[in-house]
Amino acid sequence: MDIPTHELNDGQSLPAIGFGTYPLRGDDGIAAIVSALEVGYRLIDTAVNYENEREVGEAIRRAGVPRDELVVCSKIPGRHHGYDDAISSTHESLERLGLDHLDLHLIHWPNPGQGRYAEAWRALVDLQREGLVRSIGVSNFTADHLRRVFDETGVAPAVNQIELHPYFPQQEMRAVNEGLGIRTESWSPLGKRQAPFAEPPVADAAEAHGVQPGQVILRWQVQLGAVPIPKSATPARQRENLDVFGFELTKDEMDAITALGRPDGRLFGGDPETHEEM
Ligand code: NAP
Repeated sequence: MDIPTHELNDGQSLPAIGFGTYPLRGDDGIAAIVSALEVGYRLIDTAVNYENEREVGEAIRRAGVPRDELVVCSKIPGRHHGYDDAISSTHESLERLGLDHLDLHLIHWPNPGQGRYAEAWRALVDLQREGLVRSIGVSNFTADHLRRVFDETGVAPAVNQIELHPYFPQQEMRAVNEGLGIRTESWSPLGKRQAPFAEPPVADAAEAHGVQPGQVILRWQVQLGAVPIPKSATPARQRENLDVFGFELTKDEMDAITALGRPDGRLFGGDPETHEEM
C-alpha cells in the first residue's frame, strides 16, 4: 500500500499515518508489530515508558523491511529530562531497539512542575547534530512549552504529538503547531475505548463512502493534516486503518466530525499543564 508522506521542517519525510505500539509487549506484541510492518506501516511509534523497544527492534528485524524505509520514533520519559540523562536515555533506547539511529525522538511529556524539558530539548538538538537522531520533536507540548524550547535553542520541534480524536479535536493546538511549521501527530487517534463509531457524523459518512467508522475517523485526521498513529493488535484492523487514501470526506462531513468535540473530551484528563508522567 502506498502511503503519502509529509516533509517536515528539517527536510525529513514522515508517513501520513503510523502505527502505535502501546501496550504491545512480549511474543504477541512482536507478532502484532511484524504484522503491522507486513501490512505496510512504515512509521512505528514507541517510547521508553511503553517498555517494548526490544519488541519493536525484534519485529523490525523479523519483518525484514529495509531500514531506510522506516521511521522509528521513540520518546524520552519525564525521569530523563536532565541533559545527561536525556543523552544516556537515547543511547539506551538505541541499544534496546538494536538500531544505530532513531528517525524521530520526542520528549514524551513536558512535566512543567519539574521544569526541565528545555534541558531535554538541548540534548535532542545535540543528538541530532551528532546524527543519532534524524528528526527531533515533542509530545503534549502547549504553545508556551513550544515557545520556550524554540527561544532557548533557535530550533523548532519537527513534530508535536498530542491527544487528538473527534471528542478532542484540538483546533487551537493544531493552529499553533501549523503556525510554527510543526507537524501535528495524533495519539489515541480513534478515541481508544471511547471511539465515537456510532456517532451519526461518523456512522453516516461510513455508510456514504462504503467504509468502516474507524476509517472515517482516520481519514478525518489525514484531511486535518494530522498524522494518526492508531494501535491495533488485529491484522485485519491494521489493514483497514491503513486503507484511508481511496476516499475523501466532504467539508460538511469534516465539520460535523469536528463538531463532536467537547471541552472535557480528553480521555483521562491528560492536561499537559498539570499531568506529569515520569
Ligand atoms: P487508539 O489507537 O485510538 O485506539 C486503540 C484501540 O482501538 C485498541 O483497543 C484497538 O483494539 C482498537 N481499534 C483499533 N483499530 C480499530 C478499528 N478499526 N475498529 C475498532 N477498534 C479498533 O488509541 P491508543 O492506542 O491509545 O493510541 C495509539 C498510539 O498513540 C499508542 O499506541 C501510542 O503509540 C500513542 N500514544 C501516545 C501518547 C503520548 O502521550 N504521546 C499517549 C497515548 C498513546 P485492537 O488492538 O484489539 O484492534
